[in-house]
Amino acid sequence: MIIKERKFDMELSYLLQLSIRAKLSYEDNEEIDTRIKGINGERSFDALVNQHLKHGLVFNNLQFNVNKQYFQIDALIIMKGQIFIFEFKNMYCDVCYKDNLFYFLNGTPIEKLNEQRIRTPKLFKILLTQNLIDLPFNYYTTFVNPDYKVYGYQVHDNILEYQDNYKIITENSKITIAKYDEYIAKKLIDLQYTDEKFNFRKRINIEDLGMGVVCHCHVAKYEKVSNRKFKCPACKKEVNCNDYLQKAIEDIHLIYPMERLTVSLVKKWTENYISSEKIRTYLNTHHKIFKNGPLTFYR
Ligand SMILES: [Zn+2]
Repeated sequence: MIIKERKFDMELSYLLQLSIRAKLSYEDNEEIDTRIKGINGERSFDALVNQHLKHGLVFNNLQFNVNKQYFQIDALIIMKGQIFIFEFKNMYCDVCYKDNLFYFLNGTPIEKLNEQRIRTPKLFKILLTQNLIDLPFNYYTTFVNPDYKVYGYQVHDNILEYQDNYKIITENSKITIAKYDEYIAKKLIDLQYTDEKFNFRKRINIEDLGMGVVCHCHVAKYEKVSNRKFKCPACKKEVNCNDYLQKAIEDIHLIYPMERLTVSLVKKWTENYISSEKIRTYLNTHHKIFKNGPLTFYR
């Protein structure tokens, strides 16, 4: 049973939109690439859980704050009276493991991963103690790319390669969930840290941003086919005028959450494809109107 769904990733959507609208730095493009790999890894694990889990309580993307230290967990499953934590790694190369450390095959330590493997279990343990949660937990570094191998580890190292993932889920989810497990599940949800940890938005002036409405496929902007029809050249999806306006407003909220919504802003964002009259009617119908002197804006 899934207790906490993996939510659509706002940060990724933001970065993908920027990559369509503006020239990004090499670092930003790298970051987008890493996030996409991460999301693909999550999806492949979720599919395994869907297929193989019999009894268990599943939590995705948990966020905690312990002693002012923030950490997240990719997947946590309560099975047979124990907590299983799965930290995903979607590597695009073989790696090896020696004396508690991961290395690339050329001998360079994988520092971020090595650090996380100590930090996350340490903080999670404090969280359990502070909240009087009395369940044993297992922490696994979980490799989710079937194409690459991990060399040199032993069973007790708690490292899972792709083909191990379904086994551990199948073997440990045979027993039904106890009342205490459900109680702990609730507690874990209550402990969620919901503040936005990182401000992932970059400072970009609207003048430097390409206008237009980006399709949900995140590959291209809609093009105008007729007064009532807009089409994405990449995935060929077609939307009507209202859907197009709605998506424009979502885009504005995503990129400039503090910006006041006005007819002229929406007109600019939609590349003057739609008349001010039509935009005003849409905003009057679907949004709340505010007047501040001569200024009219919407929320
Ligand atoms: Zn599309």
